Amino acid sequence: MCGIVGYVGHREACEFLLDGLRRLEYRGYDSAGVAITDQAGDVSICKTAGRIERLASALASSPLQGSIGIGHTRWATHGPPTEGNAHPHIGGERVVTICHNGVIENFQELKARLETEGYVFQSATDTEVIAHLITDCLEKESSESKVSDSVAPYASLVTAVKAALSQLRGTYGLVVMFRDHPGVIIAARLGSPLVLGIGDDEHFVASDASPLAGYTDKIVYLSDHQVAVITADSVRVTHRDHGEVRHSVENLQVDATDVDLAGYPHYMLKEIFEQPESIKNAMRGRLCEDDATAMFGGLNLTPQQLGSVNRIILTACGTSWHAALLGEYLIEEFARIPVEVEYASELRYRNPPVDPGTLVFAISQSGETADTLGAIREMKRKGHRTLAICNTVGSSIAQEADGGIYLHAGPEIGVASTKAYTSQCMVLSLLALYFGRMRHLSFDAGMRIINEFHALPSKVRAALQTDEESKRIAAKYSGANNFLYLGRQYNFPTALEGALKLKEISYIHAEGYPAAEMKHGPIALVDEATPSVFIVPQGFVYEKVLANIEEVKARGGPVIAIVEHGDTRVAALADDVISVPSVAEFVQPIVSAIPLQLLSYHIALMRGCDIDKPRNLAKSVTVE
Ligand code: GLU
Repeated sequence: MCGIVGYVGHREACEFLLDGLRRLEYRGYDSAGVAITDQAGDVSICKTAGRIERLASALASSPLQGSIGIGHTRWATHGPPTEGNAHPHIGGERVVTICHNGVIENFQELKARLETEGYVFQSATDTEVIAHLITDCLEKESSESKVSDSVAPYASLVTAVKAALSQLRGTYGLVVMFRDHPGVIIAARLGSPLVLGIGDDEHFVASDASPLAGYTDKIVYLSDHQVAVITADSVRVTHRDHGEVRHSVENLQVDATDVDLAGYPHYMLKEIFEQPESIKNAMRGRLCEDDATAMFGGLNLTPQQLGSVNRIILTACGTSWHAALLGEYLIEEFARIPVEVEYASELRYRNPPVDPGTLVFAISQSGETADTLGAIREMKRKGHRTLAICNTVGSSIAQEADGGIYLHAGPEIGVASTKAYTSQCMVLSLLALYFGRMRHLSFDAGMRIINEFHALPSKVRAALQTDEESKRIAAKYSGANNFLYLGRQYNFPTALEGALKLKEISYIHAEGYPAAEMKHGPIALVDEATPSVFIVPQGFVYEKVLANIEEVKARGGPVIAIVEHGDTRVAALADDVISVPSVAEFVQPIVSAIPLQLLSYHIALMRGCDIDKPRNLAKSVTVE
C-alpha cells in the first residue's frame, strides 16, 4: 500500500524516483508525486491524481532538476485521491517537504492545535499534520538552540523530527527534506516498511527493495522506531527514543529481471506461469528422504519445543487466509494437532485463551500486512511463540516473528496473488508432513507424501495447458454478474480463493462455499445467468460433489467443472469442463488453483479490467 522513494547523490533524482515509483506501482495507489531540491536549495513539487504515467507526462513537459528528491504513490486513507491530497506535503513556509505511508490516528487533535498556532492546512490528509509538526518542532528547536542529539551535523533536524514523531499515534514510513539543509533526507519508520540502498556517493530510500534492483545490491532494512539521516556520502541510523544504532548492510536479493514483465502482457499472467518453478523453490532443500519428512532452517525452536506443540493458530488475511484454511485441513489430517484459522484483523483485538503449547503462524506474502503484524505482536506480548510464513525477505513480520519459513517465490507484483498462494499451500503442506512425522505418520506414509510433492511441479506445468480452454470458457461467461465457486474438503479453500480471484480483478460478484453448504442459502442465487464453478477431482467426496452439481443443474444453473483427466461422469453433467492432471487429494488444491487463476485472468481481460492494478486494491495492506 503506497510507495515511498527517495534519492540523494549525483544523478538526476527524478529519473530514479519515477523508475522506483513505477516498480512500486504494484502496491496499489491512486495518485502520485515527487519533490526535487535544486542546486539553489529550492524545492519544486509535481503531483497528479491517477496513474504514474500522468505524473511522468507532467514531468516530461516541466522537468524537475536536482540530485536530491522524494516521491510517493498514495493509497488514500484520509481525504479523496485528488491532486491536492497527493504527497509530497509541505510544512510551514516550505520549511519541510514530506512523503508518508501510514495513518496518523490523532491527526484531528494535532491539526486543531497547529491551526491555533497559525499553520494553514492545504489538504484533507492526516499526513499534513506531520509536515507542520516537524516545522513547529524545528522552530522551537532553533529558538532553544540546543544541540541534544549525537548525529552531528544534523543534530537539530534529528531532534526536531524525533520530537514530532513522539507526538504521533499511528503508523508511518516517512521521508523528509529540509529547505534550509538541501543535502539531507531523514527517513523514519513505525509500522510501515522502509529500506535504504547504499551506493557510491549516493543513497536511496524505498518502501521495499524492488526499486533498488539495478541501482545497488547493498540494502539496510530500517526497523520500527528507527530514524535515518541520509546524505550523498553517509547513512546514520538512530533510535527514535535513544541514540545512534549500528545498522547492518545486507545483500539485495532482487534481480532487476525479477521485476520485469519478461514478455508477458501482465505480471499476473507471468506469475501464474512461474508456478512450476515457484512451487519447486518452496520445497527446495526442505525434503528429507532419509527421514521421510520435511525440514526447515529457520523455525528456531528446539525439537522438544516442537514436540510439545498441542495447538496451532494460523493467522492471515485475504488469500493467505485461504492458504491457512488448507493448512488446517492438512495439519489436522497428517499430524492430528488441533488447528484454528483466524483472521488477523479479528485475532489482534480478541482475547482468546492461548496455552503455552500453542504455536502461532502468521502468513503474509508481503510480510507487511498491518493486521497480521498486529496479531503476532499481540500474541508475542502474551508470551506465545510466533512463526512467520512470508515471501518478502527481511519484511516486518519476518523480523518480528521468533522464526519462520520463506516462500522463495520471487517478487510477486500482480495485486491478485497467484504464485504466492500456491507456495503458501506448498509450505503448509510441508509443515503438515513435518508435524505429522513427529507424531503419528509412518515412514511409508511420509515417503508417499514426499513422492507426490516431487511430482507436483510437472503436474502444475501440465495444468497450465488449460490456458486455452480457460480462455474459451471465459469468453462464454464473461458477461455474468454473479458466480458461485463450490468445492468440498481440501477444495473448499480452493473455492474461496477462486471466488476471491474473480472478484479482485474482474469486479464480478462471486461467492465461494463448501459445495454442500450451498443448500443453506446460496442456492437461491442459482439461475440461468449465474454460473457455478465446481472443483470436483477424484477422491472421497467426489460422489457428494456430483450430487451437488445435480442440484445446480436441476435449477437451470450453468456448471463449469474442474475435473481430473479422464473424468467422464462430470463431463456428462457439466456445461463446461476443464481437466487437470490427477494428483493425490492433499495436493489437488494446488493443481486446481491454476485453471481458476487463468479463468479469472481471461474474464477480467475480456471485461477490460486493469489486471495488475485492480481498482481500490493494494498489494500489501499496510494500514489496518
Ligand atoms: N494516510 C495518508 C493519506 O491518506 C497516507 C496514505 C498512504 O499510505 O498512501 O494521505
